[in-house]
Amino acid sequence: MGVLIIGAGHAAGQLVATLRMQGYDGRLRVIGDEPYPPYQRPPLSKQYLLGKMDLEAVFFKPPDFYETTATELTLNVRAERIDRDARTVALSDGTSAPYDRLVLATGTRARRLSLPGADLDGIHYLRTIGDTDALSIALKPGIRLVICGGGYIGLEVAAAAARKGASVRVLEMAERLMNRTVAPEISTFYQALHAEKGVAIHTGIKVTGFSGDGTVAKVNTEGGDCFDADFVLVGIGAVPNTALAEAAGLACRNGIVVDDCARTADPNILACGDCTNHPNGIYGINIRLESVQNAVDQANTVAGTICGNPQPYCAVPWFWSDQYDARLQIAGLSQGHDKTVVRGDPASGAFSVFHLKDGRLLAVDAVNSPRAYMVGRKLVAGGAHPDPAKISDMDIPVKQLV
Ligand code: FAD
Repeated sequence: MGVLIIGAGHAAGQLVATLRMQGYDGRLRVIGDEPYPPYQRPPLSKQYLLGKMDLEAVFFKPPDFYETTATELTLNVRAERIDRDARTVALSDGTSAPYDRLVLATGTRARRLSLPGADLDGIHYLRTIGDTDALSIALKPGIRLVICGGGYIGLEVAAAAARKGASVRVLEMAERLMNRTVAPEISTFYQALHAEKGVAIHTGIKVTGFSGDGTVAKVNTEGGDCFDADFVLVGIGAVPNTALAEAAGLACRNGIVVDDCARTADPNILACGDCTNHPNGIYGINIRLESVQNAVDQANTVAGTICGNPQPYCAVPWFWSDQYDARLQIAGLSQGHDKTVVRGDPASGAFSVFHLKDGRLLAVDAVNSPRAYMVGRKLVAGGAHPDPAKISDMDIPVKQLV
């Protein structure tokens, strides 16, 4: 019966590759509800959106990969119910798929706005290839694009749209951009960068609804301001796809609860990627991450567990975001820090912010500073306590902090 993977996303693609690499030679089947084989989502708000990457390049592996790895790929089909006693999964095509080991890699879906007018035409979300294709139509000179949400996806789309000549406005409820994940210095830098490129950024503003005759024409806000819009993108985060696991009686708390070897409480069911809530060995907390790093590393953990070589998952989370020519790289999680140290001058366009707690380095946010990012990753992994005076001294090469 073999391994059955639900969800044909980044984690699933990695899991197939690693299982075969580690010598798993049983039956391998992937069920995905999208029409495409596993693909990378980061280009959807970056190169693919800008038309700089072909669809084939977005796919995780070349088309013959699934044949050469003897993987049965069932697309456009949804897994609807798990029968844990019978060890089968009921599928939307009316069939049932058996398993020895079931892996849930169901990812997340875009969080929806439930406000008056939110179902008007012209209001979009971004999670899939189809979403990007629909959005790319709007990226042209003269189109008034209003983006609700100043997080990574909203800002990356703002940068792409501004490049394409659209008139772009970003509405963010918090007082600063990307407020949950980066230091204030980073928010300030990106706000200025977007303004310089002609994007109107409003922070501390709450969207209350949309109006228009069938199609969105205005975005309304709490203070009474309303903004003309030909097109709206909502980027307000994502929610984990846990319904299948919950209905099967598996514990879910902001994600499917797994242990450090990616196992649920059912010894035959594992989970990986965006949909999991898992222990992080470095910070000693349970977290849910939405990142390529986590999808890849946790898929590798699942493969080890299935192949009888369980290796507890203990990786430094990392993430990146491309906006214009500025690359933001983040190593670690800054939550709970009690001190930040800035290295470099933001005005130079290359700088980094180190987050510490009781002297221990928790995370580094680096803008156009790949060395600071790499060194930061190493330091975070090693639980280092770097000297703040040395961090901020640009005469000391960053690698000397290790
Ligand atoms: P997904 O890739 O979401 O795959 C899950 C799949 O399961 C989906 O196809 C879903 O439709 C399917 N599925 C769900 N339920 C069922 C079911 N019942 N039956 C069948 N199929 C089902 N991360 C970074 O690190 N850096 C970036 O720059 C970055 N940029 C991003 C930009 C965008 C626009 C988006 C949307 C995400 C970005 N991410 C980025 C996040 C990254 O893409 C995700 O963390 C990663 O895709 C997670 O992989 P996954 O396999 O867990 O989930």
